[in-house]
Amino acid sequence: MKMITNMEKLKTLLESRGLKPTFQRLTVLEYLEKHECHHPTAEMIYEALIARIPTISITTVYNTLSAFLEKGIISAETITGTEVRYDFAPVPHHHFLCTKCGKIYDVKIKCPLGNDMKNTIDGHHIHEIHGYFKGICRECSNKKSGKQK
Ligand SMILES: [Zn+2]
Ligand SMILES: [Zn+2]
Repeated sequence: MKMITNMEKLKTLLESRGLKPTFQRLTVLEYLEKHECHHPTAEMIYEALIARIPTISITTVYNTLSAFLEKGIISAETITGTEVRYDFAPVPHHHFLCTKCGKIYDVKIKCPLGNDMKNTIDGHHIHEIHGYFKGICRECSNKKSGKQK
């Protein structure tokens, strides 16, 4: 029952943004929701879903993701500089990239500009703020200092 409820929730979300809740869209969205902290690429989503939906193509995945992006359901992060990582994020947040293991973490910091969309810089109106942090994550730091179990 729990899964149906979740699917219903995602279905309602798609409909509220004017997107037809097709099976493929729902499956891609469900994957993003469940793997939120991994921030997958389109290729990762495709590789993961091909087993469940043999008819899915990489083009379908790209088209689905761009429809979600356009409607503001997901966001795209270019933190690594070489690839686009997708994020199902109802609330804007900042990211930390570990340069050692490549994992992307969500970080909750209080941004001085916050969500105040009335802010302007040199007369330009701010709609989105993307903050990236890079370094060595806590897991990799622990391994390095020999704390690994
Ligand atoms: Zn790491
Ligand atoms: Zn994120």
